[in-house]
Amino acid sequence: MPTNTSDDSLDEVEGSVSGRNKVIAERTRSETWKKPPRRIERAECITCDTCLRACPPEFNAIFDNGLDVVIIPELCSGCPKCVLECPVDCIYVDEDWTPTTDEMWNHIGLTAEGVS
Ligand code: SF4
Ligand code: SF4
Repeated sequence: MPTNTSDDSLDEVEGSVSGRNKVIAERTRSETWKKPPRRIERAECITCDTCLRACPPEFNAIFDNGLDVVIIPELCSGCPKCVLECPVDCIYVDEDWTPTTDEMWNHIGLTAEGVS
């Protein structure tokens, strides 16, 4: 079990599941991620969930949100494995991303490991 308890440990744990949990707790995207996050163009998406399965577990940035599939920009490193798998090429760079709503964060919080 990881024992890293320092407050400034995001850089150290970035790219790990514990790093994801920290992002969720702080609701802040890592400044060390140089690539912008991605976004799914709703009008083009066929909601096949392929991208959801392609996103690495250390990021796990893609969620079903009602009838839509969405990327949470704060969790998305821009890696971009989902882009390579999307059958309709509807995942785009999102330079001007907007912060995720509190309602969505509350839903996401349930997916953080070790959080009950
Ligand atoms: S770019 Fe990478 S981290 Fe972002 S949603 Fe796609 S697979 Fe996940
Ligand atoms: S892989 Fe593409 S089409 Fe399928 S849910 Fe993801 S964004 Fe939508």
